[in-house]
Amino acid sequence: MTHPKYDHVLVGGGLSGSLALIELLRTTPSPISIAVLEENPHRLFKGKAYSAEVSAQVLNVPAERMSLYWDQSSHFVRWLEAEGHPYGPHDFVPRTVYGRYITATVHEALNQHAQHSVRFVFQKLEHLSKEGAAFRLQVAQGSLWAQNVWIATGNFSPADVATDPIVLNHPNYWSDPWRGAGLALVPAADSVLLVGTGLTMVDQVLALEAQGHTGPIHAVSRRGMYPLSHGPAPAYNWFAPYSGQVWSPVELSRLVRRAVVQAEADGGTWISVVNDLREFTPGIWAQWSAAERRQFLRHLRPYWEVHRHRLPAASLERLESLEQSGQLKRNAGRIRTISTDGSTFQVQWVVRGTAEHVEKLDVQWVINCTGPQSFGKKLKEPWIDSAVLDGLLESDPLALGIQPGRRQDPGLHLIGPPRKGMDWESTALHEIRARVKQEVHALRSV
Ligand SMILES: Cc1cc2nc3c(=O)[nH]c(=O)nc-3n(C[C@H](O)[C@H](O)[C@H](O)COP(=O)(O)OP(=O)(O)OC[C@H]3O[C@@H](n4cnc5c(N)ncnc54)[C@H](O)[C@@H]3O)c2cc1C
Repeated sequence: MTHPKYDHVLVGGGLSGSLALIELLRTTPSPISIAVLEENPHRLFKGKAYSAEVSAQVLNVPAERMSLYWDQSSHFVRWLEAEGHPYGPHDFVPRTVYGRYITATVHEALNQHAQHSVRFVFQKLEHLSKEGAAFRLQVAQGSLWAQNVWIATGNFSPADVATDPIVLNHPNYWSDPWRGAGLALVPAADSVLLVGTGLTMVDQVLALEAQGHTGPIHAVSRRGMYPLSHGPAPAYNWFAPYSGQVWSPVELSRLVRRAVVQAEADGGTWISVVNDLREFTPGIWAQWSAAERRQFLRHLRPYWEVHRHRLPAASLERLESLEQSGQLKRNAGRIRTISTDGSTFQVQWVVRGTAEHVEKLDVQWVINCTGPQSFGKKLKEPWIDSAVLDGLLESDPLALGIQPGRRQDPGLHLIGPPRKGMDWESTALHEIRARVKQEVHALRSV
């Protein structure tokens, strides 16, 4: 049997894979061959974040900042207009519409650059190694060979919040909210526990509300903090003069606080300060030692996350109104145990700030909204294990994600969330787009 050999294989056909595909198609003058390896055909182009058909789930970033093209900032807004969608540049568009935008834009790029050959292979990557000058990507039905491999596999699944196998196998315990048929399965009057109070939890609450949920919704997270909401953010370029210096996490947090005071005096807001700082975060992260990164993760991360990953104000208002009505109860604490008698879950959680003040809850559903786990947390991915064994990949020093291994192979490109340990911010469109541009343009100079 002969095996096809490609110039590029993109592993993962979500947002990151789509961005890489578009950039390769439009910037490579001579014909190339590309395969997109995607295990889930329903996720093609949209990935996890933009596949759900729930219009209550909106982007967390206004339309004007969601163009797929780094050099055409109004591309998404123009597409919305051309398609007759009633959204302007400042609107938070349903994620389902964004999924359609990605799909349409990839198709447009495929049509415009038809000199290239692109094949979609709906299989899961099971094993990755390098044999001679080529990468070998093993899937259930054979192997693909490639000159370049793009790892665009997205976030790792969340770590479980329960240990009891009976709970883990219970159909009403969801270890990953993005799996399966989704919230439509939850009867309206049932009680639900959401573990986590970040963007994923907000999504689940809004979707439950949109489908007319009447039962109690409990949310527990260590600090019980929601992300903060978007607001006015006039451009405020403040960090560039400081960027030549190395700032420890503590010094940086002091600097940021001072910058916020100054920004407010100058007509800006804290959001303007955070937005500008974001441009510099990969550089700051790269300068920090492992000890400083750990210090940041331990003490500052939760504060950074709520300021950095913001909610549309309307979403926050919905949450507040559900809290006021008593339907949504938000708690700060740590889950101690989750057990089940077969029909409901018995949950014990320790109230934040107390050593052993335990509260108890009985709920019919438990949905894990704690977000992606890091590579270090017992993650079992056979293809990653194989690539680690072959020296292609390794865990980053803090085990937040993966990074190139001892081979430092220039044909291996890592994009999107798995780069967290390397860049810290590697999840939003803005960062993935910039990384893809950098990787594709580096290819041209080889
Ligand atoms: C709910 C949510 C809302 C978000 N909202 C915004 C927003 O408003 N603005 C913004 O900028 N960012 C937002 N983000 C962040 C960002 O857009 C996503 O994290 C981004 O979609 C990441 O894309 P990805 O392609 O790297 O990962 P994914 O979308 O997860 O795609 C990875 C793909 O790889 C496939 N795959 C994985 N392993 C294998 C394998 N072994 N073999 C074959 N295929 C495999 C998966 O099936 C999947 O389709 C949001 C994220 C989430 C989760």
